[in-house]
Amino acid sequence: MKIGFIGLGNMGAPMAANLAKDHDVIGFDTMAKPDGINMASSAAEAAKDADVVITMLPNGDILRAVAAEIHAAMTPGAIHLDCSTVDVESARAVATQAEMQGLQAIDAPVSGGIGGATNGTLTFMAGGPEAAFATTKPLFDIMGQKAVHCGPAGNGQAAKICNNMILGVTMIGTCEAFVLADKLGLDRQAMFDVVSTSSGYSWTMNVYCPAPGVGPQSPADNDYQPGFAAELMLKDLRLSQLAAEGADADTPMGEAATALFAQFVEQEDGAGKDFSAMLPRFERRRRN
Ligand code: NAD
Repeated sequence: MKIGFIGLGNMGAPMAANLAKDHDVIGFDTMAKPDGINMASSAAEAAKDADVVITMLPNGDILRAVAAEIHAAMTPGAIHLDCSTVDVESARAVATQAEMQGLQAIDAPVSGGIGGATNGTLTFMAGGPEAAFATTKPLFDIMGQKAVHCGPAGNGQAAKICNNMILGVTMIGTCEAFVLADKLGLDRQAMFDVVSTSSGYSWTMNVYCPAPGVGPQSPADNDYQPGFAAELMLKDLRLSQLAAEGADADTPMGEAATALFAQFVEQEDGAGKDFSAMLPRFERRRRN
């Protein structure tokens, strides 16, 4: 396939590099100039004649601006595959705009981070027409290990922010429970051994344990270098609350997690740290 790839940052560059092993990839980025990818001089040039144009951009406003430019340049019937994490409303607006221009659109945000992008082991959660999903499936298979079709346009973003709202909430719960266990005199290894095999188990405890030296290797064992940075967690939690407001959904735990990560990133020392650094944050604090 001929693929245009727009947004070659931390995630986009390795994803494009993996695709370029099997496909004809032409990239565009306003800043990044990654090695090994043929670059166009504009987004429109990268999109022209492509069968699939992939975008991997920072937010919904940038996606909407780039979409307006590339949709005008794309061949009718071509697919715009957006892998950025953006608000559901932007994803749906971009899909509607694509349809009006005779294009197909898929929103397929990812889970798996920079390691997953580099190793081709991302998980994609996709929204959009079944036929377009089927056409893009071979690309998901190169860039990732799993792609789930979640329904119509915007449902990929919906799945991503619901997943990450659970992630933010459970990480906080896991971290505060470790600190309570510390203060009650419970050894962290014993705490892990019990919880990881009891009803409190979770991905944040069993796979990505926030306590250094306990459980499998995780960012906690590397001085909380990300991993998944606290500010990216905050971005996704804010998207969950934007969506919850729009859909009139009551999400008190998501709201509390958003407020706590906002405080950690914007008023404390959380920026640049892994989101599991909530554990040393709680450790330093008292009840009030
Ligand atoms: P990044 O900031 O490293 O990359 C974004 C790239 O987009 C940059 O290179 C930037 O120059 C480029 N860009 C900005 N405006 C542009 C424009 N108008 N035209 C062309 N290029 C433009 O970010 P990232 O970490 O690669 O993340 C990309 C997306 O993936 C985000 O939506 C993020 O939330 C999501 N995501 C990131 C991770 C992660 O671990 N980094 C994990 C899952 C999802």
